[in-house]
Amino acid sequence: MKQYNHFIGGEYKPSVNGGTMDIINPATGKKYATLASGDEADVKLAFQAAKDAAEGWTKTPLAKRQAIMQRIATIIEEKVDFLAEAEMLDSGKPISHAKGLEIPRAAANFAFFAAAASQLSSESHYMPGEAISYTLRQPYGVVGCISPWNLPLYLFTWKIAPAIAAGNTVVAKPSELTPVTATLLGEICNEAGLPVGVLNIVHGTGPDVGEAIVRHEEIKVISFTGSTAVGKRIAGICAEQLKKASLELGGKNAVIIFGDSDYDDALKTTVRSSFSNQGQICLCGSRIFVQWDIYDRFVSDFAERVQKLKMGDPSDPETKMGAMISEGHMKKVLSYIELAKQEGGEVIVGGNQVHLPAPNDGGYFIEPTIITGLDQNCRTNQEEIFGPVVTIMPFQTEEEAVTLANQTPYGLASVVWSDRLDRAHRVAGQLHAGIVWVNCWLLRDLRTPFGGVKQSGMGREGGWEAIRFFTEPKNVTIKYDH
Ligand code: NAP
Repeated sequence: MKQYNHFIGGEYKPSVNGGTMDIINPATGKKYATLASGDEADVKLAFQAAKDAAEGWTKTPLAKRQAIMQRIATIIEEKVDFLAEAEMLDSGKPISHAKGLEIPRAAANFAFFAAAASQLSSESHYMPGEAISYTLRQPYGVVGCISPWNLPLYLFTWKIAPAIAAGNTVVAKPSELTPVTATLLGEICNEAGLPVGVLNIVHGTGPDVGEAIVRHEEIKVISFTGSTAVGKRIAGICAEQLKKASLELGGKNAVIIFGDSDYDDALKTTVRSSFSNQGQICLCGSRIFVQWDIYDRFVSDFAERVQKLKMGDPSDPETKMGAMISEGHMKKVLSYIELAKQEGGEVIVGGNQVHLPAPNDGGYFIEPTIITGLDQNCRTNQEEIFGPVVTIMPFQTEEEAVTLANQTPYGLASVVWSDRLDRAHRVAGQLHAGIVWVNCWLLRDLRTPFGGVKQSGMGREGGWEAIRFFTEPKNVTIKYDH
C-alpha cells in the first residue's frame, strides 16, 4: 500500500517519529494508502529548509520566478486527469467536480499569481524640493499556510501561489483527510524547477502539525482556511506572538430569491449553489429565502429537481452527488437533520444516509436534503452544517429579506436573485457578507478580494489583497540635499 510522505527540501521524507495514519476513501470507507503523521520535529525540519531557500528565492529575478510558476500551472493542466482521480479518491467528490472545476482552478491560481507578480507597483511620493518617499513591499521570509479538506488542491494553491509569487518560502499543511494532491504538487514543483525548500509540506493532525506551524516563532505570517473554532484558536496564538494572520472561516450563506427574478435561472442555479460538492463548499447557500408570491411554486419545483440529482460512485462522470468527507462528518450532518425535526422543521426531500451497492457499500453518502417550516433563529439556521442540507423560508418585503439574511453570526457570501437593478444594488449594499453574487453563483475573478465578515473571518485573499498580505510595506525617504 502506498505511503505519502512529507515534502521537505525537495524530497519526500517519513516522519521523524516514524508515525503514520490511514488515508480513507470516503466513497468506500476503506483505507487505500498511509500518510506520514508528523509533529513539531518535522515542522522544524520544514522550517529550516524554507529558511535556507528564502534568500535565494527572494533574489531570484521576477521573470524567472514567473516562468517557474507558469510551468507549475502547465504541468497541473497536463496532469488534470491524474490529479482529478487522486482528488476523487481522497475526498469522495464526483470526478466531474474535481476535473471540471477544482484541478483547473489550481493551475489557474499559479498562472494568475505568476502574471500578477509583474503587475505590482509601489507607491512613491514626491516631497517638492525636499525628498522622494517610496514604499517597498518585501516578502516576510518563511510563511505558514494551512488548508481544509473540502477543495483540497484548489485552496492549498490559492495560498501557496501568492505566497511564493511575493517572494516568500512556505511551510504548508493540507488537511490530514485529503493530503494526496498536495503531496503530488511537490513532484510537480520539482519538475517545474522550483528551487528546493521554496515549498515544504508537512502532514499530520491539526493540533500536532498545524499548531506547531502557527506557534513557530520564526514563521511570521499564517494564512489559514478552515472552521471558525480553529480559526479563533489560531488567532489567539497569533495575538500572543503578534503574528499576522489571514483567517478564512465558516459560513451560513443566504440566498434571496425575489418574485421579480428570472425564475428558471434562479431555480437551476440554486440547486447547484446548494448541493455542489455535497454542500461542502464554504460558499454554498444553506438558507434560501423566497418571496411569498413564488414560494409554493419554488419549493415544489426545487424539490422535484433536487430529487433527480444523481448520487453514486464518484468515478461515474454522470454522478452529481458523491460522498461526505468522513464518517464523523456524515454523522454530524445527520444529527443536524434530526435537530431540525426537533425544532419543528419538515424534511420535504432526503434526510437519510444512503447505502449504495459495492464497492461503495461502506461509503458516507447522504441524500440531498430540503427542510421547510423552520424559524430563522433556530440552531439549524444559525450553525454551520457544511453538508447537503438547505432550509427554505418565505419572506414578504425586501427589508424583511435583508433582515433575515443578516440574522446569523456568519458573513461569508450571499446570493441575490432579482431583475430589478435598483433592488440588486440596494440589497447587495446592505448584506453583511464579504461576497455578494447577483443573479449568479461562484463566478469569480481572481483579481477581486475574497473573504468574510463577522465569524466568517478576518482578512482577504485574492489579487492584490493576497500580495499585500504576503508582503511587508517598508517606507523609504531619501532627502535630496544633505
Ligand atoms: P478545520 O477543522 O478548522 O481544519 C482546517 C485545517 O486546519 C486542517 O488542515 C486542519 O488539520 C487544521 N487544524 C485543525 N486544528 C488545528 C489547530 N489547532 N492548529 C492549526 N491547524 C489546525 O476545518 P475543516 O473541517 O478542515 O474544513 C471545513 C471548514 O472550513 C468549514 O467551516 C468551512 O466553512 C471552512 N472553509 C472556509 C473557507 C473560506 O474560504 N472561508 C473555504 C473552505 C472551507 P486536520 O484536518 O489535519 O486536522
